[in-house]
Amino acid sequence: MAAAVEAEKVVAELRERCATPASLLRDVAAAMAGEMGAGLEKEGGSKVKMLLSYVDKLPTGREEGLYYGLDLGGTNFRVLKVQLGGSKKHVVNTESREVTIPPPLMSGTSSELFGFIASELAKFVADEEENTNLSNGKKKELGFTFSFPVRQRSVASGTLVKWTKAFSIVDAVGEDVVAELQTAMAKQGLDMHVAALINDAVGTLAGARYYDEDVVAGVIFGTGTNAAYVEKANAIPKWEGELPNSGNMIYEKLTSGMYLGEIVRRVLLNLSLQSGIFGAIDNSKLKTHFHLRCSPYSAIPAQKTVLPSAEKSILYFKLDTKISVDVIYRTPHISAMHHDETPDLKVVAEKLHQALEITDTSLETRKMVVEICDIVSRRAARLAAAGVAGILMKLGRNVCVDKQRSVIAIDGGLFEHYTKFREYLESTLGELLGEEASKSVAVKHANDGSGIGAALIAASQSQ
Ligand code: ADP
Ligand code: MG
Repeated sequence: MAAAVEAEKVVAELRERCATPASLLRDVAAAMAGEMGAGLEKEGGSKVKMLLSYVDKLPTGREEGLYYGLDLGGTNFRVLKVQLGGSKKHVVNTESREVTIPPPLMSGTSSELFGFIASELAKFVADEEENTNLSNGKKKELGFTFSFPVRQRSVASGTLVKWTKAFSIVDAVGEDVVAELQTAMAKQGLDMHVAALINDAVGTLAGARYYDEDVVAGVIFGTGTNAAYVEKANAIPKWEGELPNSGNMIYEKLTSGMYLGEIVRRVLLNLSLQSGIFGAIDNSKLKTHFHLRCSPYSAIPAQKTVLPSAEKSILYFKLDTKISVDVIYRTPHISAMHHDETPDLKVVAEKLHQALEITDTSLETRKMVVEICDIVSRRAARLAAAGVAGILMKLGRNVCVDKQRSVIAIDGGLFEHYTKFREYLESTLGELLGEEASKSVAVKHANDGSGIGAALIAASQSQ
């Protein structure tokens, strides 16, 4: 009994400390818009990295022809091709293939990795041409989504700053990944041109814009959080590349899929230690945590870059920190417990048992765990909504002007699979915008921006 009372106190305190009243979120949104502006003013002007993508043309939906995409992320890469039929037919056909990267190649040499990617790409192209009997003899255009920190100086080049995740290929660091890929493709006899190097947020923006010209931003809520929107080039007073900056990427850690499981783990450990609600358990699993590494962008040296001449330029900002150590309590556990609708909260019991070796919990205790998941994810979603509201504010789209529609295209595993997160995000955005402006703003799930978007940008860049 005493344990239950103590535990209630811990949860009540958590609830209070995680509160995100609309007034606070409005401040966060305004700060976000302000920081975005500051990040455009001068390098190091803000902890929100405002990186230039150099993409100055987004797909319009009128593109025609066959285009390729290559998406290199964690352990797999995907190759795909898209047949575009112009404004009437749009995407006529897509084919894709996913390939696992052999682990030894993740720490080998650059030419081994890119050689492997190019050979798989060549096979895909050859198989596809055989099936369709289609080879128009034209140079093939490819968009390359590369989910590692790169310093870009043009739309189709970028030097690798460092590897993250499971990759560590020393001789690729500092090299232009597009040139590496281009060389490897030439060795395979593949006549293909890399038209654009992008990240997933830019791809999401492009993929959604292809179908809907009212899409103003692409946002990712996945392992990490980032976003891309279109900014006028003349609104970027000075672009001088990145400054070394070891700033805290706090926002990211409160909202991203990478961290929500870890936050709940910490709360549960606290609950266990303070109240003993889980009984006399071995807390060692609950105590297993991961180390945070600093943002990959923090190591990028200052460098001058030239603005693209086009009037508009897509920017993407990144609030990203990657972690390489295994996480015991992952966000999918949290959403599974949060969404548990069985009367006796069977899923919660199961997850507590499997992941944390906590057994024999009472229904009351399991309800408490669900509430903790709710508190943590609701805060994350509400802060995420404030971030989206901030982007709309930066764009002047947080108020309804001339009935102009604004669509935010969102992708990422957290948004896609964590229903309650998504619902909280959408309802909070409505709350922040108010009834009138809400009518003109839509949130749309844009599936697979990182793949199709790359091919679509290749199309728009080369037409
Ligand atoms: P990335 O950002 O690396 O491209 P994804 O967009 O595929 O990754 O998102 C993966 C992230 O989504 C995981 O780190 C996880 O936090 C989150 N996620 C995946 N499935 C679920 C789920 N069922 N419930 C909650 N979060 C999930
Ligand atoms: Mg992704």
